[in-house]
Order: sequence, then structure tokens, then C-alpha cells
Amino acid sequence: MDYVSTRGSAPVLDFASVTLAGLASDGGLYVPRDWPVLSRDEIADLAGLDYVETAVRVCAPFVGDVLGEAELRSLLGRAYASFSHAATVPLVQLDGQHWLLELFHGPTLAFKDVAMQALGQLFERFLSGSGRHLTVIGATSGDTGSAAINALAGVEGVEVFMLHPKGRVSDVQRRQMTTVLTPNVHNIAIEGSFDDAQALVKAMFNDASFARRFPLSAVNSINWARLMLQIVYYFYAAVRLGAPERAVAFSVPTGNFGDVFAGYVASRMGLPIERLVVATNENDILHRALSAGDYSVGQVAPTSSPSMDIQVSSNFERLLFDLHGRDGAALAATMQGFEATRAMAVPDAMRGEASALFASARVDVDSMAQTLRWAQDKCGQIIDPHTAIGLAAAKRHVGAAPMVTLATAHPAKFRDAVERACGIRPALPARVAGLFDREERYAVLPAELGAVQAFIAERARPADAVAA
Ligand SMILES: *Cc1c(COP(=O)(O)O)cnc(C)c1O
Repeated sequence: MDYVSTRGSAPVLDFASVTLAGLASDGGLYVPRDWPVLSRDEIADLAGLDYVETAVRVCAPFVGDVLGEAELRSLLGRAYASFSHAATVPLVQLDGQHWLLELFHGPTLAFKDVAMQALGQLFERFLSGSGRHLTVIGATSGDTGSAAINALAGVEGVEVFMLHPKGRVSDVQRRQMTTVLTPNVHNIAIEGSFDDAQALVKAMFNDASFARRFPLSAVNSINWARLMLQIVYYFYAAVRLGAPERAVAFSVPTGNFGDVFAGYVASRMGLPIERLVVATNENDILHRALSAGDYSVGQVAPTSSPSMDIQVSSNFERLLFDLHGRDGAALAATMQGFEATRAMAVPDAMRGEASALFASARVDVDSMAQTLRWAQDKCGQIIDPHTAIGLAAAKRHVGAAPMVTLATAHPAKFRDAVERACGIRPALPARVAGLFDREERYAVLPAELGAVQAFIAERARPADAVAA
């Protein structure tokens, strides 16, 4: 499979290069040249397969011949061995219409582990013995950072710099990052919002001389391999609920549009998805874009679902690419306009096309808390605030098809917010015991490109220092 940039002018890459690449050199995001399709029979054949085997079947067309099937299987097997549930991502029934897909049984208690544990394996595979060295730079609203650090700590050839907005991640999230003292891990608390941190990362990728000095890589959801690995659980869940005979709907708590974009790809691949609900908190740019065509950046409001406190949703560009008929030059012009004005009107024709699959909802804190209590009182499930936003949106858009809400975080990861909403303080699971006894290490920097680049330049390995 070849990968092309959404802005049309970056080099075409294969799967190995796209995994290590991050942002394309023209400022765009990589996508497969075309969407592979699984036939009805191939989807039916997924019934009863375990998670690793499902992942092999779904990922194989994207990987192409870069990895053999046996190697892909053993790599994915190693990745998911770190999950604490035998079903990897168990499906839990709430009532006659609603299900939860629990994606938080990995080492850092959020769905990001599903992709990141396998991405760590892919990095190791593509770098080991190559003599190559990468500087991974990421911005995190909390969960990406902990998942990436857990997956990449100690991986040879990788230096990780993770930027998080100071004071705007939960204590569990922060400690899952800052207590990892492995020498290749560097945490930076940015005095600003997540969007500030993300803008700094983008600026470093767009700074050609910096990117030449330090071979940069991204593990944010702009990384294609991460999205690919998230497509798998849409198939896994839908097949268990009757696909391909029966269509299934999904509700996805959304920030950077990565997770829900993976659902879109599953649909393009032939999975019968009746509806994809884009659930946002008060930071509702995606809801405004999909319901009214208004993709304009507002102020980030800190909420009790911090992993969704995002205004600029990077992966929305990947959907816009398809809505522009995959015309990279046209999209590049649109995105340049957006970057200059921080606003874009999504034309009605494109919005109409998107609405065939997508619905959206903005869920405020009261509706979130009410839904969290409903799940506890009526279904005996304690859910986290992100999941509660997804479930509240699911209840507004449920139709004939079974509705699966992606449960994106373990309630203990956001236990203060859960306690505020329902009075119960969820216990930390055994796999993160000791988190509050460990030493923390992180730097605090202003949201200034020069300061962050200087910090990284002192610690990263320049390209010309690559060992022979
Ligand atoms: C990252 C995250 C989200 C949002 O996912 P995107 O791919 O950015 O849309 C939702 N919930 C939790 C718990 C997360 O960590």
C-alpha cells in the first residue's frame, strides 16, 4: 500500500516509512492511496476470531508486503499481551439498545494503549538494526502521552519528548508520564493549553532546518499506523453484534477526530455502520462543523473530560480530503485559508455527504454527569466522563441498530471527576499500583517555540550523530 499526503505534494511513502514519519513535509497528513475493501464473506469470517487475529486480517491490506503475516501476528500478539482482560476489548451490554466497548484494559487505562502498544512494537521492528535514530515529539491532553511513554520507554533508537498543558491533565495522567524515569523519556509541562502544545509540535515539524537536524517522528493521532490499529475494534465489536448481516452504530467521544476517523475508515472498508456519532464536550468545533458547517476555532474551555478539550482537530483534515474528492491541491488551499483565519465554512454539499454517515452532539457537564449516574444506577457500570459524553450522545441518536459507545478511559483515570458526578471514587486497578509513591520528573517551559526547541536540541541526538 502506498501513502499520499492530504495536501498532495509530499513524497509517496510505504507503510514502514509512514509509520515512522508523522506529519507530511507539505503540512498534510498521510492517508492510504485508496481504501481497501473487505468482502462480505471476509467480514463474516471474522466471527469468533480473537482480537489479535482480527487485527491481522484488518491491518494486512494497509501493511502490504512490508511485514509478512506471521511477523505481523507475532508483533500484535506481543502488543496485546500487556492487556489485563482476556477479551482485550470486551463488549458490555447496558440495556436493550446500548453497549459499551471497553478499550481501557491496557497499561495506562485509556484507549490510546490499543494503538500505542502495537505502535511501540512497530517502531522497534522498523528501527532495530537500521542504525536510524528518531526524535519523537508529541503533544498530549494526557492520555496519548502516558500511552506513548509506556510503549516507547527504553526502545532503542528513540528519544521521546512529550508536551502536556501544565495543570490541565489529571494527577493519574501526569504521574503515568512523569514517573517514567527511563533516560529516553522527556516530559515537558507547557504553560498553555493543549492547542498551544499541539501548535508547537506542528511548528517544529514545519521548521525545515530543525526537522533536518533531528529526524522527527510523531505518535499523535496524525500518525497513520495509530489510526489503522484503531479500525480493528470497530470490526471486532460489529461482528459480535451481527455484522455483516446487521448494521451497527457507534458513538465516539471525540477530540482530535482520530478515533472516529478510524470508524469512518471501517465503513469505507465495507463494515455496515449505520451511524457514527461524533460526541463532543463544550469544546464543540466538530459538532458545529458537522451540524452547521462552522469550523471556526474558539477558546479552549477546560472540562472534566480533558482529553477532549481540543479546538483544532487535526484528523478532520483526513475527512476533508475525501470530501474534496481527494484533490490535494484544493485541500491545501482550503487548509491555508483556515490556518490564516482560524475559520472555515464547510460547504453544504460536503456537509450533506458527511451526514449520510455522521451525526454529532455537544454534551455539557450536566448531561455528562446525569448519564454517568444513569449508567451506575440502571446498569451497574461506573464509567468515566469521556465515556459518559459518548453515551449521552448515543442516547440522543440511537435508532434501529445496536449502539456501541466507545468506553475510552477507565473511570479511575478520572476519579476526581467521577466522584464529583456520582459520589463514588473508583479504585485504581492493580496494574497501576504504586503510581503515587514514585518520584516525578518533568520540565516546565513557556509556550514558546524557541524555548522548546532549545530544550530538545540539548537532549536529542542530531541526524549526523547516527551510529555507523
Ligand atoms: C484521546 C481521547 C479521546 C479523544 O480521542 P481522539 O482520537 O482525539 O478523538 C477521548 N477519550 C479519551 C479518554 C481519550 O484519551
